[in-house]
Amino acid sequence: MIPYSHQVIGEDDLRAVAKALRSDWLTQGPEVLRFEKALAKYSGARYAVAFSHGTAALHAAFFAAGLKRGDEFITTPLTFAATANAGVWQGAKPIFADVEWDTGNINPHEVEKKISNLPRSRRGKLKAIVAVDYSGVPVRLDEFKKMAHKHNLIFIEDAAHALGATYKGKKIGALADMTMFSFHPVKSITTGEGGAILTNNKEWYEKMLLFRNHGITKNPKLLKKKNQGKWYYEMQALGLNYRMTDMQASLGFSQLKKLTKFISARRVVAKRYMQAFRNEKNIILPYEASYGRSAWHLFPIRLVNPKKRPFVFKKLQEAGIGAQVHYIPVYLHPYYKKLGYKKGLCPNAERFYASEISIPIFPSLSIKEQNYIIKKIKELFE
Ligand SMILES: *Cc1c(COP(=O)(O)O)cnc(C)c1O
Repeated sequence: MIPYSHQVIGEDDLRAVAKALRSDWLTQGPEVLRFEKALAKYSGARYAVAFSHGTAALHAAFFAAGLKRGDEFITTPLTFAATANAGVWQGAKPIFADVEWDTGNINPHEVEKKISNLPRSRRGKLKAIVAVDYSGVPVRLDEFKKMAHKHNLIFIEDAAHALGATYKGKKIGALADMTMFSFHPVKSITTGEGGAILTNNKEWYEKMLLFRNHGITKNPKLLKKKNQGKWYYEMQALGLNYRMTDMQASLGFSQLKKLTKFISARRVVAKRYMQAFRNEKNIILPYEASYGRSAWHLFPIRLVNPKKRPFVFKKLQEAGIGAQVHYIPVYLHPYYKKLGYKKGLCPNAERFYASEISIPIFPSLSIKEQNYIIKKIKELFE
């Protein structure tokens, strides 16, 4: 089976992990700090905090943003459930705003509508906008930043798909109030499991460090009781163990050096698909926004006739092509339906979902494999 995505691990990565394993620190040691510094440097953000998972990173961002029970945030339905879940864990309630039909990204106009339609009694509860760079295409960052500023909201970018993407020539990572990356094996670079938040805000940075480590600090500047000795620590907030190991961070550091190469290779695969399917009337090809460059996490095609999707999916499976659907609109999952969200809430997202199939794209996908995929898909429409 050719998967829809796959990690690329080299001998250099193996050596990096082995080196960490032989060191004195297996977790929360110097490798984690080194990886964080490299991430911050890469994207031009002042601070980076590494976490055990991208989901943990998102959870920490919601914590740092101060979301609590009764608060609300606006987010996209066309994402992995973790984007909304992380806020729900803090007790907050997601408001889903519809996506743009061409990119699948949350639409700034729809967000603005949701804000102005909020009854006054709920207006003060709204705390954040959480956008997702679907498939690796950055959202309209300037619009969202302006909107967030105007309404006094915190703007969090779930860039799990977009490490390596650019917006108006600038790298993703330092452009939102907080930016999340995931290092799951299907993402731009991997640490096995892992994630990070990047920010320029020192207060949020310190809150996230606290949250990652049970809410415990040993930082003399932050301790309530002074001069207790070097062993002394305080638990100041309810946190979790969301730490990244040094083996993971070492792998991440090694992978980050190859990020540019990985993204170029994904771009080559995308270009070949674009070329191969340019005259295919039954397919809507992905759209790379004019204001940025995609990290090409996914190659999402849409079927002009969504009724054909079960057939197309089955045929691809039989041909050994591991396609995947991204995503079921979050509010249509049974858990969210039980909370009261209804079908029809975001028509574009539902239409997008109904017609979407992600076909394989990853740096080591060979020309032979790709030609095979192209041939099989073309045959389906003959
Ligand atoms: C992968 C992903 C996450 C979660 O990241 P993990 O590292 O798997 O926890 C969150 N949001 C989006 C959009 C993702 O693709």
